[in-house]
Amino acid sequence: MSISTTNYEFSKYEPDPKTLCCLCKESCAPSHLITVPEDKNICIKCAELLGEIAAENREKIKDSEIEKMLSIESEMPDSYQPYDLMTALYDAGYRKME
Ligand SMILES: [Zn+2]
Repeated sequence: MSISTTNYEFSKYEPDPKTLCCLCKESCAPSHLITVPEDKNICIKCAELLGEIAAENREKIKDSEIEKMLSIESEMPDSYQPYDLMTALYDAGYRKME
């Protein structure tokens, strides 16, 4: 008994580049993509992940800056007044950014 085989060639599926997330490379519905500068798209999942990473980084920066401010406070003389501490923090560069 012989088995005949037939070879088929299928063209490889190539998703529309406009539907690809530039980070995870997943193809998404246009409604699930956010266009960012340089005409690139990011999917909602990656955008949410970036938001979480950014929030974690902001917390790390905040903790680090608070530690630096506390070290300035720890170097103040025992009898310092709030104005003296605020002056030391201002002189160290801590101020509200407009
Ligand atoms: Zn993605």
